[in-house]
Amino acid sequence: PEAITVQELANRMAERGADVIKALMKMGVMATINQTIDADTAELIIGEFGHTVRRVSAADVELGLEGEADIDDHLLPRPPVVTIMGHVDHGKTSLLDALRQTDVAAHEAGGITQHIGAYQVTLPSSKKITFIDTPGHAAFTEMRARGANVTDIVVLVVAGDDGIMPQTVEAIHHAKAAKVPILVAINKMDKPDANANRVRQELLSHELVTEEMGGDVLTVEVSAKTKMNLDKLEEALLLQAEILDLKANPDRSAVGAVVEAKMERGRGSVATLLVQKGTLKVGDIFVAGAEWGRVRALLDDRGRNIDSAGPAMPVEVLGLQGTPQAGDVFVVVESEARAREITEFRAHREREKQAAAGARSTLEQMFSKI
Ligand code: GDP
Ligand code: MG
Repeated sequence: PEAITVQELANRMAERGADVIKALMKMGVMATINQTIDADTAELIIGEFGHTVRRVSAADVELGLEGEADIDDHLLPRPPVVTIMGHVDHGKTSLLDALRQTDVAAHEAGGITQHIGAYQVTLPSSKKITFIDTPGHAAFTEMRARGANVTDIVVLVVAGDDGIMPQTVEAIHHAKAAKVPILVAINKMDKPDANANRVRQELLSHELVTEEMGGDVLTVEVSAKTKMNLDKLEEALLLQAEILDLKANPDRSAVGAVVEAKMERGRGSVATLLVQKGTLKVGDIFVAGAEWGRVRALLDDRGRNIDSAGPAMPVEVLGLQGTPQAGDVFVVVESEARAREITEFRAHREREKQAAAGARSTLEQMFSKI
């Protein structure tokens, strides 16, 4: 919607309607409490009251859910979501496995490790970090391309004995394009020919100035093999997260992204979702890309049944009617009818897009014959 009533705007800002009307008058806009004002005017008013306009995802806007943007008062700190990138064989998978084993909650739970595309580690301080368990650039860029921006921090893994390689540079470009801060893990430091300072030097030529060189890029020397400094890496991630001041409102309907989805015999469509704001609950009806479902069961990254999942928590979800794609945005909606309406609208739009592409290629063929 391009417009909002004065009353609604006041509600969302938690301001008095009369004060909003006064502010509008100052701007030369005469409006009563039930009148609608356009988005641009609303934005000016929001600024006038010292609130910030939050950018909302295209999916939110499409669903008319942008009004659900987190209200500042309800924002609580949330764990950071981390993606590991780097050159092949520099140790991404090894590092993800090693970090997973640092989870203090794992031992007491005794659950069997499930690879659901993302996991969460609880540190001794009881702080949490979420890792996307599908390393690499493809996962990162694919998700971004489909509209999901889930990563808060990129851990760039550079093998200390190998240094910066082509895919390291690629990863730097991806992270920069996504405006996601980079934290460098200099890996394989157990090897005698590893040289962390050489790596720091090389990073300079890609405009990554490390702390040691007077910049603000954090580096940690680690070994996925001997598990050296994994705690330091996690501390650095929490420090970076603190700088980013990551917050979300857990007290609203859930919005997030599909990390993975597949058909499984006997279980139907299974998706790993990362909740980005709000809390996802059993029984919720949601739309994910072109599919919808009702949450029949929620499982955590150890395969345990849970009732709900809050911000930055990855969960496996059962109950989808079809299989969405990684990177699709998911949103909880109020009814099955609404879910059907949205998925039908999307299917229709997709058909139109394809028809338009078909028409274009016919035109191109015609012109190519001239
Ligand atoms: P990826 O391609 O980035 O996922 O790299 P892998 O995790 O598959 O690791 C590539 C190779 O490097 C494997 O043989 C690992 O055992 C090895 N490796 C990974 N981390 C370390 C480390 O810290 N020290 C040593 N010595 N070898 C490592
Ligand atoms: Mg790997």
